[in-house]
Amino acid sequence: MNKTALLIIDVQYDFLPPSGSLAVPDGESILPVIHDLLDRSKWDWPLIVASQDYHPKNHISFASNHSPHKPFDQLTLEDARGMRYEHTLWPNHCIQGTRGTEIEDRLVLDLMKLGDKVKLARKGTHEKLEAYSAFEGAAHPGETILPEQSPLSLYLRSKGIEKVVIVGLATDFCVLQTAVSAISASFDTMVLGPGIRGISPDDSEKALGKVRNLGGTALDQDHRDWTGELRRWIDPSTA
Ligand SMILES: [Zn+2]
Repeated sequence: MNKTALLIIDVQYDFLPPSGSLAVPDGESILPVIHDLLDRSKWDWPLIVASQDYHPKNHISFASNHSPHKPFDQLTLEDARGMRYEHTLWPNHCIQGTRGTEIEDRLVLDLMKLGDKVKLARKGTHEKLEAYSAFEGAAHPGETILPEQSPLSLYLRSKGIEKVVIVGLATDFCVLQTAVSAISASFDTMVLGPGIRGISPDDSEKALGKVRNLGGTALDQDHRDWTGELRRWIDPSTA
């Protein structure tokens, strides 16, 4: 039995060119790859998780809430758990109720065809908690931040999932942090290069290196035989 889940990270209009407020360069080029991955005649995922960045207007990560700071400034913030950390400030993005937070239309259609195999994982819903990783979910200040005890981990385990394949946006932030969580929660983890794009090319390259260093698998963005490589990774007996 296939015990591999597909995690689709933040494929939302605000992260997509041409009009996203925090558009990831070339982000739209992952759409055909994800469309292919959701073709039931080619792939059989027991479970698909789509994460959705889903912020209130007054979210801690928005530069607009830390005037006079500007988007992409670094600032030390204190979150709802009392943790202080250096954070990149962002333009307003993925605000609840806006078009920008919606998952891309054709992807939604693909997901609807897969019915109850699909789980939506919203994140960053608390005004004073940032959540890059899909495993941090709609966290509350009192909730655990240990990836292996997160609601998403427990859900995946309850469905018998042992391996995860990660695609989506952006490589150097939410894809990376989702992969780090998945690895620390002991899932066999693959980041599928052709299905991801990052904000900074250098940081994206480093992100793939970090996934490999932690024991995960990361295919390069221009990997030509990614379908073959992915099939062998999901089921080594086909090698
Ligand atoms: Zn966000």
